[in-house]
Amino acid sequence: MQNKIGRMGWLVLLAASACVAQAQPASAPPQLDRFEASVLDKSKDPCADFYAYTCSKWKAKNPIPTDLPSVGTWTPLYLWNQTILREAMEKDAADPAAKGTAQQVGDYWKSCMNLDERAANGKQWLAESLKPVDAMKSKQQLAEVLAHLNSGLIPAWEGGDDQTNTALIGFGPSQDLEDSSKMVAGFDQAGLSLPSRDYYLGDDPASTKIREEFKKHLVRMFKLAGDSDERAAREAAAVFAIETALAKAQMPAVDRRDPLKIYHKQSLAQIRLALPDFNVAEYLKLSGAPVPPFYLVTTLEFLPALDRQIKTRSLEELKSYLRWWTIRAVANKTTPELEQANFDFFGTTLQGTPKMLPQWRRCVASADARLGEALGQEYVKIAFPPESKAKAVELMTGIRTALKKDFGDVDWMADATKKQAVEKLDAMIQKIGYPDTWRDYSSVKIVPDNYLANANAANAFEVRRQLKKINQPVDKMEWQMTPPTINAYNDPQNNTINFPAGILQLPFFDTKQTDASNYGSIGSVIGHEITHGFDDQGRKFDAKGNLKDWWTASDAKAYEERGNCLATEYTHDVPELGAGVKTNGKMTQGEDTADNGGIHLAMMALENLYRSLGKPMDVPEEDGLTARQRFYASYGFSWCESARPDVQRMQITTDPHSLNHYRVNTPLSNQADFARAFGCKAGQPMVKEPACRVW
Ligand SMILES: [Zn+2]
Repeated sequence: MQNKIGRMGWLVLLAASACVAQAQPASAPPQLDRFEASVLDKSKDPCADFYAYTCSKWKAKNPIPTDLPSVGTWTPLYLWNQTILREAMEKDAADPAAKGTAQQVGDYWKSCMNLDERAANGKQWLAESLKPVDAMKSKQQLAEVLAHLNSGLIPAWEGGDDQTNTALIGFGPSQDLEDSSKMVAGFDQAGLSLPSRDYYLGDDPASTKIREEFKKHLVRMFKLAGDSDERAAREAAAVFAIETALAKAQMPAVDRRDPLKIYHKQSLAQIRLALPDFNVAEYLKLSGAPVPPFYLVTTLEFLPALDRQIKTRSLEELKSYLRWWTIRAVANKTTPELEQANFDFFGTTLQGTPKMLPQWRRCVASADARLGEALGQEYVKIAFPPESKAKAVELMTGIRTALKKDFGDVDWMADATKKQAVEKLDAMIQKIGYPDTWRDYSSVKIVPDNYLANANAANAFEVRRQLKKINQPVDKMEWQMTPPTINAYNDPQNNTINFPAGILQLPFFDTKQTDASNYGSIGSVIGHEITHGFDDQGRKFDAKGNLKDWWTASDAKAYEERGNCLATEYTHDVPELGAGVKTNGKMTQGEDTADNGGIHLAMMALENLYRSLGKPMDVPEEDGLTARQRFYASYGFSWCESARPDVQRMQITTDPHSLNHYRVNTPLSNQADFARAFGCKAGQPMVKEPACRVW
């Protein structure tokens, strides 16, 4: 099921082909971007638009490649990470005696790269995949067929070339919000092909156009699966009607940010009552899920709405829906023709990206999503030496110390609340680089000549692994991201912060670059993740990760006033994306709080370091920048990006992060230290009055 309170990631890795650069041979890994004073555009005024001051020269040199939705300073890093994984896979594939993990990785690679084989057999693989749906004779069989599809064919997690949603309903292990030591099971809203409910319900021209294109795409895919024109049109209409009805019953993303709104303890009897026309008990049994003491339901209204679809739609209409989800799920693993058609809509129409990434990069992303902790071991050996880990720990210690001091300094929290905040911070587990124990994939059967079967086997392994967690102790040390991932997250229910080796690289981090650059870039990321524990959502969880109010009433009120200041500041028009496009500061409030706090804490930590070294922070160094200026410029540089307008519009409706331009300018304009560093004066755009501040 979808992660209930959302992965509080830091970077935005949009859909399949996120953040990547143009194809290059594996033998020529890219030069990683590194902040240098020469990138700054001195013709721009840092107090007018700091993002332009930091990024305009870089942007002029880095147009968006045709096979990417966006390009950023981390794009070469993504290619570099993928190149390392490619070399590991090629080495295993070339070894005829490969055993164990090496055999799995090598054969996965061979099966994915062999397009001739996929072209020859893909149609047949698709036809076989459709058989269980085509054989349905009554709605009573829906539970059985859906359990089959959602247990391996349709992956329910993010990564590689796949959707993040399951057909009709989401089900999986769910950590109890009130008692984080308990792993029960939960039901979630699901069943949409488009990125969010807004795409079905919005009446703006962009949404309307995408819906029309989506209907055409459905017809095209049914025809590619062998259906007649007339049948394909009928099927497409059914799919669209069912998904639109489900979209209407879904809770908007902004409401899902409130843990209390998505926390409903239910017995199986209650769930059956809400879903009388679906044999949910059989679905659970056939999925192989253990029986928990109770279930958690995110969106109560979704279940009766789903039931209405099952009850009122004809068997043929429901079969059309399941056929579509099957076709879509296998498209990227069967014939190149189907894969291209899938990309034409989800890549080009939806995101504006003209071309697919080269085959090898799609295969690396697919393997990373499915066998990530097998491949990740190779990555760590090459890209993450012990000195990187030691330096990262040093930064984290400095930033944690800064937050502790900040708790002591603020004048709006009572001592009792401050004490609880410090306890929570002290209990926060930091995980750096890679897991202590690697996942065991030995039960996954990988063959050299059937990519779809391999992907399904790995998906099924993941579903089984997830379901096995039900009723078992929670493993706080498990990772939700693979080692090469360029991202980081805070897990509020386990009170952990997590930094994969993939982000502890340039342009974010390097043991050989200056402290000011490291603190400005990765330091702000570390501060960001720690701050998530105390953002508008994270503050509702205690040191153990339980949803529990540990705030005095007046402290909570003071907090909300500060949070609302940010939410208002970040709610504004985005005229460059078209008339009527508006950000929602309530949806991005957690991320914005973390951005603002992260920069502030990283700066405090850098000041402490300079103080302990007896070095001045405001005297120009060799490159002409003071340490304080380099800190902010390095922060800005790690966010330089050009993104296609379609992608940015998608981000505004689906992503809890603000657009990069605002992630740089808005938090910096709230910080007095920034204004001092660049001599900005009241009244200039980069000086907000009043300035918003939580941490
Ligand atoms: Zn975040």
